[in-house]
Amino acid sequence: MAERFAAARTLAVVGAGPKGIAIAAKARALAAAGLGAPRVVLGATSATVTAAMADYSWQRHLISRGAYADWVDRGRLRPTHRQWSSYLREVAERADAEIVAGEVVGLDAEDSQWRLALKSGETIQADGVVLTGAGPPITVAGQPRQHPRVLDGRNYWLAEPAFGKQVAQSVCVIGSGETAASVVISLLRKSPKRSSIDVLTSRGVLYSRGESYDENRFYSEPGDWPALAESHRREFLERTDRGVFSPQAEAILNQSRGFRTLAGRAVAIEAGDSQVVVTVEYGSERERVAYDLVVVAIGFDARWFERLLGDEARRRLETALAGAGLEHRIELDLSVAGLSPPLHLPLLAGLAQGPGFPNLSCLGLLSDRILRRYVTIAEPTRTASERGALV
Ligand SMILES: Cc1cc2nc3c(=O)[nH]c(=O)nc-3n(C[C@H](O)[C@H](O)[C@H](O)COP(=O)(O)OP(=O)(O)OC[C@H]3O[C@@H](n4cnc5c(N)ncnc54)[C@H](O)[C@@H]3O)c2cc1C
Repeated sequence: MAERFAAARTLAVVGAGPKGIAIAAKARALAAAGLGAPRVVLGATSATVTAAMADYSWQRHLISRGAYADWVDRGRLRPTHRQWSSYLREVAERADAEIVAGEVVGLDAEDSQWRLALKSGETIQADGVVLTGAGPPITVAGQPRQHPRVLDGRNYWLAEPAFGKQVAQSVCVIGSGETAASVVISLLRKSPKRSSIDVLTSRGVLYSRGESYDENRFYSEPGDWPALAESHRREFLERTDRGVFSPQAEAILNQSRGFRTLAGRAVAIEAGDSQVVVTVEYGSERERVAYDLVVVAIGFDARWFERLLGDEARRRLETALAGAGLEHRIELDLSVAGLSPPLHLPLLAGLAQGPGFPNLSCLGLLSDRILRRYVTIAEPTRTASERGALV
């Protein structure tokens, strides 16, 4: 998706998912508020932008479908993934996002611009790039790329609709985060009564996600986040984000039988025609266990984009990092500090800028932070949430 600005600056967003759509909608709202010109004033006029954004709100989406009263009467329930996806689809249409269908296979820097190479042979020039998406699933040694008995946190959902009653009798789900939880819930619904599901966790125990106000607030208002010590930020991410099951998933799993937790780390997979053998390591012990089906849900590779980088982009990135870790060098606008042209990496912004940027917790703030780089700010008026972040 390429978003063009009145000042002829182009921001290319790789991925037309929720983040790309949110950025496109916010850019349209800026333009509708008369702020598409190079000179933009935030603060006083931000109320106009907020008003324009109401056109893309969840409430307006429900009203247009005649479902608003029902939603209120039912206690304003969280939308299901299906409802959320229908909402995003509508926002993408209303924002009239400029979508280029194609796979980006190369990204290089040329003077002050990025050059995105598409698989089709086309190229896109852009003043800035946002990389969205979770990245490709992380694999276990020996895991085949495509195998009917070995699925991952992404292709499981493509295979799931085709599962019939004969879905595997013995299944191993490797992982202990929300992706693994979603897979286990789906398998419990689909599997025959006497089937067994092992959930393999390297942490030994399946932990539930912390969801107090004090924990939740950092996801939507991360202004104070950079002021926390790094050790505390890491601990926070462990307790609320990585390798934990949500209370919603826990509520379902607490009622379910048919699955058990196994402590250990999958170190190898051997996939055959009729079974898949998983080698599990726990302390000094090693065990080989055979299953009908294995689902690997151990996370996604956030640094997948490095494979796209051309020589010049790689050189500039290395210079910008100067030996520091990438996740320490993400700035307020979610771009890599010192790298020109700007490369925005919300997926890697969790540690430095706030835990909500890699996921969908603060799409409005994410769009503001990124777009501010491409509009002229007359007065550096900051929102309360940004004041803390700019220490
Ligand atoms: C089962 C599941 C449930 C989840 N539930 C939640 C939830 O409830 N709340 C939450 O906050 N997060 C949730 N997440 C995480 C959530 O999916 C991601 O945070 C969110 O989808 C990221 O949105 P995005 O716009 O960054 O990317 P995506 O929605 O992943 O979109 C990125 C797109 O980019 C495309 N793409 C990738 N590489 C290229 C390339 N080289 N060229 C062109 N296009 C490319 C991909 O095909 C993809 O369509 C969930 C994830 C899973 C797997």
